[in-house]
Amino acid sequence: MTRYILSFDQGTTSSRVMIFDSHGQVVATAQQEFAQHFPQSGWVEHDPQDLWQSSLECAREAIRTLSSKISNFNVTQLSAIGITNQRETTLVWERASGKPVYPAIVWQDRRTADICRQWLPFADTIREKTGLLLDPYFSASKIRWILDHIDHGQARAEAGELVFGTVDTWLIWQLTQGAEHVTDATNASRTMMFDIHQQQWDSELLSQFKIPSSMLPRVCDSAAHFGDLDLGLIDESWTGTIVPIAGVAGDQQAALIGQGCWQRGMVKSTYGTGCFVVANTGEQALTSNYKLLTTVAYRLNGQVTYALEGSIFMAGATIQWLRDGLKIIDNAGMTEAMAENTGYSHSVYMVPAFVGLGAPYWDADARGAILGLTRDSGIQEIVTAGLQAVCYQTRDLLEAMAKDGVSTSILRVDGGMVKNNWLMQCLADTLGVSVERPAVTETTALGAAMLAGIYVGLYSPEQSLLPTERTFECKLDDETREFLYEGWLASVKRIGNNQEPLNISAI
Ligand code: ADP
Repeated sequence: MTRYILSFDQGTTSSRVMIFDSHGQVVATAQQEFAQHFPQSGWVEHDPQDLWQSSLECAREAIRTLSSKISNFNVTQLSAIGITNQRETTLVWERASGKPVYPAIVWQDRRTADICRQWLPFADTIREKTGLLLDPYFSASKIRWILDHIDHGQARAEAGELVFGTVDTWLIWQLTQGAEHVTDATNASRTMMFDIHQQQWDSELLSQFKIPSSMLPRVCDSAAHFGDLDLGLIDESWTGTIVPIAGVAGDQQAALIGQGCWQRGMVKSTYGTGCFVVANTGEQALTSNYKLLTTVAYRLNGQVTYALEGSIFMAGATIQWLRDGLKIIDNAGMTEAMAENTGYSHSVYMVPAFVGLGAPYWDADARGAILGLTRDSGIQEIVTAGLQAVCYQTRDLLEAMAKDGVSTSILRVDGGMVKNNWLMQCLADTLGVSVERPAVTETTALGAAMLAGIYVGLYSPEQSLLPTERTFECKLDDETREFLYEGWLASVKRIGNNQEPLNISAI
């Protein structure tokens, strides 16, 4: 009997469900977008019911699609459930009723900058214990804000009436009808309350933040028994079929697993609107000198594998700006032919610091620039420079990671930009490493499915279910590669304030 894994991928703009077979092939999918709420400048909220209902409806649709495709399909063939989710997004709900006391505060939300400023004296402790930089991004200050802004929040939390969860925890609570209040180590590692070395909630930070430990979920391995779903919740006719929730990881960690980056030195880089680079650092939790984040890659059988993580604010967003801001291209796809025409023999650099520069520069005040223009520079050179900037920024991150102690052997890529062959070749040329592009780029959902499949024995750990579609090898000589990169470094220097890196990321 063929067995399947159902994977929830609850993202920032849409919820998706994918069903995988035992070879890691996608056999059914469903996707739903949901509303984004921006009540004030810098605020971003989701309705918790939207997150749950859209996920539930996608599960129903995907299972129905599968049963219509496969004549003798039975829901008992669903062996396990995986969950991956937008990380850091914070929910607080009533333990007794399951009712949220406030909308979900999304990771992008900056309203808690003032709270973080008050926590500045704890910044070093936060860095040492959680591997994170003190920043509104992470869950802790969002919980603090909710408790401060609902009636009797602190008192109710202290009386044990309120519980906290990231999106995985919220979905598991719903799927198990309130029976389980749990999370996994990767999601816990993004809350700014979890000691990634001791693998437990940190009582010192909790007391400094005045967050009662009774609010926090139990932390499990990433492949574990998180609870059981009675499929009757999805469709009454399936009542009595029980499926274990067996794999959970935050989205970037799930992508690392989906990409099969099981060995130290393997790196995955996702090129969407922004870019997230995650490097497997094995059993070692490396502390970065370049303000990269130290985080849990996954935890299997109690054994923690760590990661270093860095991000680029503007990757595909630069291409969007060329299209919608400058209006020099009609669509993202045409950048490939333009760059092919131009090649590397031009002098233009674009530093896309539209919203400042992230790691390793951490210059929140820097702004973008196009440098090196000559009389023969035109649209093609500017577009090419925009693509090259993505590659140079990736190299900045990989160089920082190497100096911190993990050198890249393989870069596995995914996201909307990676279909651009010129960009992938430029990436290999800029980095001097092999760039591997998988056949399927649904790495996030696959990662969660793999964790669940590992737990129920359908997949084995260290396995890669993702065949490589194409490998791009570096074709550039060392001298040219270094010459081009030095031009980038000089360009960044010219736009920055050249001060010491900020002590705190973007508050
Ligand atoms: P997200 O998940 O962040 O919404 P996607 O992974 O869907 O993003 O990727 C979309 C981004 O990729 C857009 O910013 C778009 O400009 C960029 N993009 C899409 N196709 C190409 C292409 N052929 N070349 C360069 N950039 C592209």
